[in-house]
Amino acid sequence: MEKHLILLGAPGSGKGTQSSKLKSAGWLHVSTGDLLRTEIAKKSDLGNKVKSVMDAGQLVSDELVVELLKANLELDKNKYIFDGYPRNHKQANTLDDILKGHDYVAVYFKLNLDILVERITNRRTTKNGKNIYNLKTNPPKVEGICDVTGEALIQRDDDKEDVVRERMNVFEATIDPILEFFNNNDNLVVVNADQDLDQVYNQILNKIE
Ligand code: ADP
Ligand code: AMP
Repeated sequence: MEKHLILLGAPGSGKGTQSSKLKSAGWLHVSTGDLLRTEIAKKSDLGNKVKSVMDAGQLVSDELVVELLKANLELDKNKYIFDGYPRNHKQANTLDDILKGHDYVAVYFKLNLDILVERITNRRTTKNGKNIYNLKTNPPKVEGICDVTGEALIQRDDDKEDVVRERMNVFEATIDPILEFFNNNDNLVVVNADQDLDQVYNQILNKIE
C-alpha cells in the first residue's frame, strides 16, 4: 500500500468492484462518477448542471470534475484509488501534476469490449454506488437487496443499453492517449480483467509491487 492507484478501463470493466476489495488493504476509493452522482442526488448547482450530460453518456467538463476531485483529496494523509479519473489526455496530465511528489501506478483493466454491455445492463448497486452486484455473475443473496446494508438495489440511469453504447464509444475514442501517457512515464501495468473477481484482484496486487 505504498502507492496511489489509478484504475483505467472501460465502463463495466470491474474498477469499482476491485476498489471495494482494495479498500480492505488500506486504500481510500475516490470515484468521480460517484462524486458526481452524489451532487445530482443533492440537487446542488453542480449536480443540476451535469445531470443531462451524464444521462446522455457524455463526459462532464474537465474543470467541473477536477474541482470536485481536488476537494475530496487529502494526499498527505491517505493513499487513494482513483476510479473514473482520468477520462482524457488532459485529465491524465492534470492528475500527474496533482500527484507530483507522490508515487503512483496506473492499472489498465483490459478486456474484450463485447462482454461489457451485458455486464453493465445487469449491474445493480446501492444508492451511493459503493456496493456493486451483477444479476448474472454476482447476484445478491436476496433478490433486489444489498447483502451488506439491507438497502434496495437500484439500476443507474446511465446503465440502460442505449446510454451504455454511447459511453463505450466515448471510452474507445479517449483511452489510447491516456494509456500512452502513463506508458511513456513508465507508470502503467495491464491486468486481464476477463477473469473472476479474485483472479483479477491477485493480478493487481502482484503487478503493482
Ligand atoms: P466499473 O466500475 O469499471 O464500471 P463495476 O465494478 O461496476 O465496473 O463492474 C461492472 C459489472 O460487472 C458489475 O455488475 C459487477 O458485479 C460485474 N463484474 C465486475 N467484475 C467482474 C468479473 N471479474 N467477472 C464478472 N463480473 C464482474
Ligand atoms: P462512471 O461512474 O465512472 O462510469 O462515470 C459515469 C459518468 O460520470 C460518465 O459517463 C461521465 O458523464 C461522468 N464522469 C465521471 N468521471 C468523469 C471524468 N473524470 N471526466 C468527465 N466526466 C466524468
